[in-house]
Amino acid sequence: MLLLWERTAANGLQREWLEADALREREPNISGVAGIHVPSSGIVDYAQVTRAMAADFQRLGGEIRYDAEVTGLEERRQEVVVSTGKETHTSRYLVSCSGLMADKVIRMLGQKPDFTICPFRGEYYQLPEQHNHIVNHLIYPIPDPAMPFLGVHLTRMIDGSVTVGPNAVLALKREGYRKRDVSLADMGQMLTHPGILKVLGKHFRPGLSEMKNSFYKRGYLGLVRKYCPSLTADDLLPYPAGVRAQAVSKDGNLVDDFLFVNTRRTLNVGNAPSPAATSALPIGAHIVKQVAALLID
Ligand SMILES: Cc1cc2nc3c(=O)[nH]c(=O)nc-3n(C[C@H](O)[C@H](O)[C@H](O)COP(=O)(O)OP(=O)(O)OC[C@H]3O[C@@H](n4cnc5c(N)ncnc54)[C@H](O)[C@@H]3O)c2cc1C
Repeated sequence: MLLLWERTAANGLQREWLEADALREREPNISGVAGIHVPSSGIVDYAQVTRAMAADFQRLGGEIRYDAEVTGLEERRQEVVVSTGKETHTSRYLVSCSGLMADKVIRMLGQKPDFTICPFRGEYYQLPEQHNHIVNHLIYPIPDPAMPFLGVHLTRMIDGSVTVGPNAVLALKREGYRKRDVSLADMGQMLTHPGILKVLGKHFRPGLSEMKNSFYKRGYLGLVRKYCPSLTADDLLPYPAGVRAQAVSKDGNLVDDFLFVNTRRTLNVGNAPSPAATSALPIGAHIVKQVAALLID
């Protein structure tokens, strides 16, 4: 917690240390020995944010193609050729941001990235409407500094509802949004990658515990009851999961920073873990700056 306190200072955040009494006063349903109040934390409807970005992009002349999986990339002297199952496009430069498929897309360019993407499913629950006021802020437990994940937290969504989650379960398929989703090809790639094997070995116990809690609701409940003891298993209602794209290095580290792989005419985002959604605009500005440096003709 002291580490977090120092980090908030290093990042220039306004914050307030709350002793247990002050914490109880602000959050009567949350128990803890202390807390850090960060007044600037907030919540948005991110789907709405992306719709607004897309509208701006189109207004400026951009075109968005849906249902067009890129299956091949070729970088030539003067251009980059992008193939989808249906059509081929050529352009002078290419920027790729392909999340769970980032390493595959980079490999299409003939590159050999020294990391691979490991998918971690983040499962959520939603509280029933009568608990919409159970918390007044976004509530985060103290995260495990060895992991790039925040731990199961309580989020007051923009519509007033409250979600619980996400956990971090190794997904058996890159786009494995459901527990039953399995891809033998994806699993084969994961289980033959030396870095992923090291990660699985290093985090075996917590990994197993996340998997157990994924199937055992009372185990999951235990994670949130540590700091919100009044919740019961009946309060955890189903909610859709997400899958995180987590780059893992060959030597077995979960890469917790942004990672780019550039070639002469392409710029590729290799790892953009949370908070890449919150920081999408500064990351975009960083990419634009790098693209400007690429402009050779
Ligand atoms: C459960 C969960 C909770 C999160 N919470 C937060 C949070 O609170 N705050 C925060 O800042 N971030 C959060 N994140 C992280 C955030 O969502 C990611 O960091 C961010 O989306 C990464 O952006 P990206 O553009 O790199 O990848 P993505 O958003 O994954 O976008 C990649 C896109 O590329 C497409 N694509 C991939 N391969 C191909 C191909 N071959 N052809 C065509 N298209 C392709 C995919 O379909 C996808 O649309 C969370 C993520 C998860 C899973």
